[in-house]
Amino acid sequence: MTELPPPKPADGTQIQAALCNPQRLAAVRETGLLDSIAEESFDRLTRLASKITGAPVTFISLVDSRRDFYKSTFGMGAPLDTQRQLTGRTFCHYAMVSEGPLVLEDATVLPVFRDVPTVASLGVRAYAGIPLKNEAGEVLGSFCAVDFKPKQWTQQDIEVLVELAHSTMREIRLRRALQSAETLNQQLLQQLQKVDELNLALNELARTDPLTGLRNRRAFDDSLELELAVVERTRSPLSLLMLDVDHFKQINDNFGHTAGDKVLRSIAQVLSGCVRIIDIVARVGGEEFAVILPHTDATGAHEVAQRMRVAVAQASWLCQPTTISIGAASLRDAESARSLFARADAALYAAKRSGRNRVVAA
Ligand code: GH3
Ligand code: MG
Ligand code: MG
Repeated sequence: MTELPPPKPADGTQIQAALCNPQRLAAVRETGLLDSIAEESFDRLTRLASKITGAPVTFISLVDSRRDFYKSTFGMGAPLDTQRQLTGRTFCHYAMVSEGPLVLEDATVLPVFRDVPTVASLGVRAYAGIPLKNEAGEVLGSFCAVDFKPKQWTQQDIEVLVELAHSTMREIRLRRALQSAETLNQQLLQQLQKVDELNLALNELARTDPLTGLRNRRAFDDSLELELAVVERTRSPLSLLMLDVDHFKQINDNFGHTAGDKVLRSIAQVLSGCVRIIDIVARVGGEEFAVILPHTDATGAHEVAQRMRVAVAQASWLCQPTTISIGAASLRDAESARSLFARADAALYAAKRSGRNRVVAA
């Protein structure tokens, strides 16, 4: 290398323009490396550079607008090893605007270069810096080797540094690709979670009666099967109420269908207000409701049924009272859901036949 004339230093205006170039700065920030912790994948490269070239200090710099950030340092010593950044003019700024590698055997004898602050502050004498260029040609920083005495860099030294600068860029690209993949993965997970939530909401919708907000017939059937399965294990009592609004057709006929709907909604509210949190109220037909009462025997079921009957009869939604008839059945040993339902329904029919607005037990 000795036969080459010393490189001409770039002027301050050229460096300032490069430092502030928005495309270049965006590319530097896009690496995601500024202020990131030291990583073995980069440290391996600076370590290798020192070992092969014999330079005591090697580093990878990223040139931000007002500072050089060192993604990896080897042999710098305190405090640069811990601070990992420098402000003010550095050799890396000259490397950034040099056409190729910037190679200085002894900065102290070169005009301009001898005034670079690190010559006085750190004692830098020899410097070799390879610009780190991305695919778009933006220089992100440089891969550098430094000595504190004059150093005749060999052709091989420079070739090795160029190779390691390439490896650094490859590492940066790889890291970006991994980050993008991770972001995509995160987005995918979020989408999947959304689909799950939508499915859950859809499922809930398919199990809800739109008029009253109560469970619909399908959800009721599932709930009853589930509760019976629990009873099989716990051997606890369970009762079922079947409810039907009395003369509901007249309500529709006298006050209109919309008023009828309102009454159904109000009845749903009253029924829900009469039960415990573990009880299940459902709308199983036009003006028919069913209530599953876990851990409730015939006496308890009768009490709840009476409470519901009275609460509905006492409410005054229309100018005439609305009443309900209720059939109650309590689960027998090894009885099926279908049989329990049929017995409660038969009791309801009996309540209707015997005059309505009453509770009949199966
Ligand atoms: P009963 O005392 O014997 O039960 O007499 P009812 O009039 O209540 O019985 P019926 O089965 O003859 O009539 C039920 C009525 O409920 C007929 C139907 O139009 C009405 N109905 C069913 N679903 C709805 C609904 O969602 N909204 C309204 N407003 N009416 C409904
Ligand atoms: Mg009916
Ligand atoms: Mg009816």
